[in-house]
Amino acid sequence: MDLYPEAVRPVERSEVWSFLESKIREVMHRYGYSEIRTPILEYTSLIARGVGQNTDIVSKEMFTLERGRHSYVLRPEMTAPIMRSYIQHHLHQKPGVQRYFYMGPCFRAERPQKGRYRQFHQFGAEIIGTDDPRADAEIMTLMSEIFELFGISNQRLRINTLGDSDARSRYRDALVNYLTPFKEKLSQTSQDRLSRNPLRILDTKIEAEQTILEHAPLISEYISKDSLDNYELVKGFLTAVNIPFIEDPMLVRGLDYYCHTAFELEVDGIGAQNALAGGGRYDLLAPEIGAKHPIGAVGFAAGMERLILALNDCEEDLPCGPFTFEIWVIAIGESAHAAAFHVATQLRRSRFRVGMELGNRSLKAQMRLANHHKARYTILLGDQEIINETAIVKDMNTSEEESVDLIHIVKRITELLSHVSTSS
Ligand code: AMP
Repeated sequence: MDLYPEAVRPVERSEVWSFLESKIREVMHRYGYSEIRTPILEYTSLIARGVGQNTDIVSKEMFTLERGRHSYVLRPEMTAPIMRSYIQHHLHQKPGVQRYFYMGPCFRAERPQKGRYRQFHQFGAEIIGTDDPRADAEIMTLMSEIFELFGISNQRLRINTLGDSDARSRYRDALVNYLTPFKEKLSQTSQDRLSRNPLRILDTKIEAEQTILEHAPLISEYISKDSLDNYELVKGFLTAVNIPFIEDPMLVRGLDYYCHTAFELEVDGIGAQNALAGGGRYDLLAPEIGAKHPIGAVGFAAGMERLILALNDCEEDLPCGPFTFEIWVIAIGESAHAAAFHVATQLRRSRFRVGMELGNRSLKAQMRLANHHKARYTILLGDQEIINETAIVKDMNTSEEESVDLIHIVKRITELLSHVSTSS
């Protein structure tokens, strides 16, 4: 998808993206998260081991490139790359737990549709270096606050606990035992998942399968007391800061690396792809990708395109219309080109937002552009002004004009605009 100025759909409008990105950065900084950026290309083996061979992402959605002896992948998500970076750069040696945020493109070979793209953008946050349940609650609080900030109040936070890997594997066996007699009644996708990744069947949207699952064993029956106590603490912290949540024992998430807390944030009204964000705890990712021991970590990832789709409803709050200028410089005739270019550059170097058309448009066309970009003042330069070394400064609100010596133009514009900002 191309993003460009003044696009009709907010999801394609570049101004909307920069506005949202700066708001997200603001919240991330307020919570004490620093930005981390990792390459778009990663080794395929990192993603395969980190995300899990049997996941949909690794088994069918990766864009891979073979080059020489190596296989690379366009990153399908950011958590495994960030943990790789944390291990590679010995970031555990830094004092305290590490809080990171990120935003950037990810790639999955999916069938594109509304809210689902081959190239999409994620933003998210990770806390690495602790298994403190406050970290889980903080990540969910931060995520909810970002969506709340944009006025998405119909968000639903669903949470669950997946226990440790022992509980998960015992539960996996129990689920397979329960579902095997129903195998013929399952869709082809679920039949495939039954051997590869049975927990994913719990995500099914097919009603007949949901009915079968009504009597399936629940993961909570397999979870140790310690894990359940931990889950209680997480819920308690969420409640203490007024973050509403719904407990969903069927929530498992599609990625292999989650343990203990798992969560998803949904919203109505954006079609089938109603998951805005998801995440969880992933202490076991680090040993999968080369660390000697588990590293306590929890994070969320959200889809930028889905956020914007969800915002369509409250579109008036989003930036729309053209980029605005304080000054628009107009050259009338080629003899004024050099002087106009000089004036525009001087003003830009003096920190003003200055627009200027290129080529040989008529005065009328250039004035139209100045209006389109809501310029407060225009500066006009024609043959006579070049001879006199002056320029005409026009107030676009009152249509008043004054002649200003070119050597004083920056000073005069500074005066005029400081008056505008103090009187407005
Ligand atoms: P996941 O890593 O699958 O948990 O995805 C996290 C979030 O990224 C989801 O909740 C979506 O908002 C977004 N997302 C995932 N895949 C896509 C896609 N193909 N197109 C657009 N957004 C996506």
